[in-house]
Amino acid sequence: MRIWTVANQKGGVGKTTTTLALGGRLVMRGFRVLLLDLDPHASMTQSLGIPAEPPPQGILELFDEPPLGILDVMRDTPMAGLHLVAGQAGLATLERRAGTRPGLGRALGRALEQVADRYDYALLDCPPTLGLLMVNALAAADRLVVPTQTEPLAQFGLQGIARTASMVSRSRSRGLPMSILPTLYDRRTRIAQDTLTEMRARFEGSVWNDAIPVDTRLREISQLLGPDPGENGPRGLLAYSRALDWLLACDHLGEAVG
Ligand code: ADP
Ligand code: MG
Repeated sequence: MRIWTVANQKGGVGKTTTTLALGGRLVMRGFRVLLLDLDPHASMTQSLGIPAEPPPQGILELFDEPPLGILDVMRDTPMAGLHLVAGQAGLATLERRAGTRPGLGRALGRALEQVADRYDYALLDCPPTLGLLMVNALAAADRLVVPTQTEPLAQFGLQGIARTASMVSRSRSRGLPMSILPTLYDRRTRIAQDTLTEMRARFEGSVWNDAIPVDTRLREISQLLGPDPGENGPRGLLAYSRALDWLLACDHLGEAVG
């Protein structure tokens, strides 16, 4: 099982959309996929039709003492082959409740080990804040996927997550490859083009050479989990399909060159 953590230290940049779109594309290609919603806003969970009230079982229970097994808290989604560990509002206070209990930084990684032979990919949708949940998600990750808007202010969030990633990367033996996906790209605006150029210069080699366009159809869950569209289908979804090709190639190359 490969673990991809989708994160950025900024909200509204397309993290949840990216997680769902990549999850949907992977399942369409025959992979078994588990989604984890680490965001207290639980928008991925709600998009998948699981109401916030009463709070579903999910990520929180993986941090209980003792934790529930991940198999006991995961659930089906509207798409066959795509499963979910739900996010809950209670995740917002996890930090405080958990205090300094030792070993908690690896709770998620340990939970995922229990299902390593059942899934091909685990995709982790992160909150925008650097805390216990993001630390867990980065510690468990084989790859960090960073969706980012192509506007000047988005650069701060990107620099933040890049710094965090390089810290994590230094603290472990296997490194942490980072793949930056420009999203919500409006190619008609000069500022978006300039920001993208600057981003590619600054993070050379880590930025996808394409971008996910602004496409309102990406706001519909039925599109995100639908089949790969034909040439006249939603441009956004086609772009995600190409983005997935790139990520798979990055993984493959990374493995090939050791
Ligand atoms: P995050 O998880 O980073 O907060 P979301 O994925 O929830 O970001 O996206 C924020 C909002 O933008 C959502 O309403 C989502 O539907 C919308 N959105 C995301 N990507 C696109 C896109 N490429 N085109 C149009 N709307 C998008
Ligand atoms: Mg989100």
